[in-house]
Amino acid sequence: MKIITIEEHYADKRIIDATAPYGEPSYMAQLPEKVREAYNSMRFTGDKLTDVDTVRFDFMQEQKVDIQVLSYTNPVPDTVPPQEAVRICKEANDILADVVKKHPDRFAAFATLPMADPVEAARELERCVREHRFVGALITGTYQGKFYDDPMFFPIFEKAAELDVPISWHPEFPAANVQTHYYLSDNYSLSTGMQFATAGFGWHLDVGLHMTRLVLSGVFDKLPKLKFISGHWGEAIPFMLDRMDQIMRPQTTGLKKKISTYFHENIWYTPSGILSKDQLAYMVKVFGAEHIIWALDYPYVPFGTCSTDFLMNADLTDEQKEMIAHGNAEKLLKL
Ligand code: CA
Repeated sequence: MKIITIEEHYADKRIIDATAPYGEPSYMAQLPEKVREAYNSMRFTGDKLTDVDTVRFDFMQEQKVDIQVLSYTNPVPDTVPPQEAVRICKEANDILADVVKKHPDRFAAFATLPMADPVEAARELERCVREHRFVGALITGTYQGKFYDDPMFFPIFEKAAELDVPISWHPEFPAANVQTHYYLSDNYSLSTGMQFATAGFGWHLDVGLHMTRLVLSGVFDKLPKLKFISGHWGEAIPFMLDRMDQIMRPQTTGLKKKISTYFHENIWYTPSGILSKDQLAYMVKVFGAEHIIWALDYPYVPFGTCSTDFLMNADLTDEQKEMIAHGNAEKLLKL
């Protein structure tokens, strides 16, 4: 069966070097020194991200992946000053476009957008879709702690809806005050606290909450065709939908629909390499196989066995497997 995976990261030394002079993002600067040092040592720039022709193709062969939809890994250049962000994002997208052009049957790509300047970001999205045939964009976390329900970001979402391309929303580090208040503690180790604040728990809730803020802001009423992709099985939100519908009703929210309706209609979900039978079954039951797309979060999740076998052996019909393995991605991303 053809396999398309859509959260597969890439990095380029030129872009890492171009962003380096602008220092750490604001959320890093506010953290205690020892936490910052530990985070910086975690940043991964190895050849799994940069090398295509051997390391990445070996992985794809081992995992039986036919097509990867590529995106830049954290930190994407959205923390640099607006003028520089536009230039660096354009360069990043052109570099990624060259990778796709070299292997058009193996790769597609999500654009990186200069969120610092939403009007330019919308223009860059249009350029990437029209000139490079990119299939959407990937955004991360917040912009310097600013949430995307702020009206300043509306031009980006308006453009994505107009172009009919989805936006994939990837976690980034939660704000410093969120990390220190909720996650870091003297009662367990710093490394445990950092994992708790980020990939072990916290940054997932951060994106789930943020997605809910976007729903509550009414952006999907204004742009009914706007589509998002939410990784990690929906970043903890699917389990809260019934409660949100029960308490936050349209007469209070002023939205046209129940909160869960937007999560059913406007959002697609991926495992991001979390190969859990129970979560897969739950997501198929709640959203239907037609809203689930396969993703492995290359190169961050180690797989002892072939993850494609996990999907093929899942308790699903062949039709559901076809949808999740490639059909939904082909339809949503027009591959
Ligand atoms: Ca990822």
